[in-house]
Amino acid sequence: MSGQSAKIALVTGANRGIGFEIARQLAEQGVQVLLAGRNAEAVGEAALRLRGEGLAVEPVVLDVTDSAGIRAAAAAVESRYGRLDILVNNAGIRVEEYGRQPSEQPLHQWRETFDTNLFGVVEVTIAFLPMIRKAAAGRIVNVSSLLGSLGTHSDPSSYAYSDMFKSLPAYSASKSALNSWTVHLAYELRDTPIKVNAVHPGYTRTDMNDGEGQLDIPEGARTGVRMALLDSDGPTGSYVHQGEVLPW
Ligand code: NAP
Repeated sequence: MSGQSAKIALVTGANRGIGFEIARQLAEQGVQVLLAGRNAEAVGEAALRLRGEGLAVEPVVLDVTDSAGIRAAAAAVESRYGRLDILVNNAGIRVEEYGRQPSEQPLHQWRETFDTNLFGVVEVTIAFLPMIRKAAAGRIVNVSSLLGSLGTHSDPSSYAYSDMFKSLPAYSASKSALNSWTVHLAYELRDTPIKVNAVHPGYTRTDMNDGEGQLDIPEGARTGVRMALLDSDGPTGSYVHQGEVLPW
């Protein structure tokens, strides 16, 4: 277990995929990681796996769509640690099927997607913000996607200008809205040490993509980790991938 001066990070949706690897890489940097997820068994197993590697990781049950659960998790972290240095809003879903036109995707999928990818992030952030304000240099990382970029989506030369990526309108719009939330919160916190940034992990071979993608999971975690450990001269309100600023 790290000493009292170790940074404390909470990573949502960290029982698998990019979130699990962000948790691992932060812990490898000496951060005390609260590995959060909605399934108690999966979260416990994931935390045990990283503890088996000698890393300082604690499981936290947190479904980002469950208001009472969010309040309970925030209260538990407050009473145990009293502050939070890093919040990585990683939990996300893609429920749409590839191959349909944007207008053919049913509305219930829009609601389900926004509940997790936007409202979940907003609610978790608001619940933990008082603890982040108590940290010396709070960092909030919103795991977005290049599919949230309207500039990329409307550029005919971009990979997103394709039947495949135009068939995820709710997912893409939820990440555009997440980018907007990032800018708004960064503005609110502009005179504090807290930095709020959106990251695109890269097209990563996780379950979300049925194992397809250009990056392996450790590489996909890297941008989020870098922005979580940002120095005081780093940006806020930015949207980045591997050090490159992305078009909104
Ligand atoms: P993944 O392998 O499908 O993992 C998603 C994680 O989110 C899982 O741990 C899942 O938990 C969790 N989750 C889903 N709904 C949740 C909820 N209501 N409460 C708490 N946790 C919840 O996906 P991934 O590829 O690692 O994606 C991680 C993030 O990166 C997402 O925000 C995604 O949009 C973003 N992203 C991914 C890619 C990519 O190429 N993979 C590209 C751009 C952006 P369960 O195990 O309980 O389902």
